[in-house]
Amino acid sequence: MDIINNLKIIQNRIDQACAKSGRNPSEVKLLLATKTVSPERIKIALDAGYTLIAENRVQELKEKYNELKNSTHSSHFIGHLQTNKIKDVLKCGVSCIQSVDRYDLAEKLHQKLQSEGKTIDIFIQVNTSGEESKFGVSPENAIELTKKIALLNTLKIKGLMTIGLFSDEMEKVRLCFQTLKRIQLEINELQIENAHISELSMGMSGDLEIAIEEGATIIRVGTDIFGRRL
Ligand SMILES: *Cc1c(COP(=O)(O)O)cnc(C)c1O
Repeated sequence: MDIINNLKIIQNRIDQACAKSGRNPSEVKLLLATKTVSPERIKIALDAGYTLIAENRVQELKEKYNELKNSTHSSHFIGHLQTNKIKDVLKCGVSCIQSVDRYDLAEKLHQKLQSEGKTIDIFIQVNTSGEESKFGVSPENAIELTKKIALLNTLKIKGLMTIGLFSDEMEKVRLCFQTLKRIQLEINELQIENAHISELSMGMSGDLEIAIEEGATIIRVGTDIFGRRL
């Protein structure tokens, strides 16, 4: 399992997808999805110059935090977040929560941040595939949720996040990413104060090319860098 070589392969895939869609590779950030990966192996990727990592379970975030806190990287949170775990996420140096998908969570986050005099970047997670197993606000309700959360001034809405349909039918996967892009355009058209959506977090190991073609600015890759999870 050669992490460095895998990173090169991913960078090539990013470059090719950008070339195909006339985009500049500098517009696409690679986020390392590090669930189940040990701090030692995460450090190999960080030492290679990658600076954006994310966990999706609070328990794992806490376990790895001390070992990684001396590296200069940004840490995002990409998993389902229960309100009783908010304080743990905030304690672990997370700079952006990509998985805000309901008002209740946003409100409790806001209350906690306000009491500490802090702010945080957030993305709104949208369930573009309609699969019941996935979290995220429905596309129909995404704009209303964004408008409401935009009134909570400790939460800086910077992006939208989605997980594409798990399917071999790539045109159906593509529709998910097109939906996220369309919601971005609709929100930005409304010029809501505190909700200028510049980031689209979409695309993983199996579908990153399609996501890039449809406008991803952050792709989240785990398996094709660190190997298959047990
Ligand atoms: C695990 C995970 C990824 C990465 O998926 P891979 O298929 O391993 O590249 C991306 N996004 C989220 C939210 C994840 O939990």
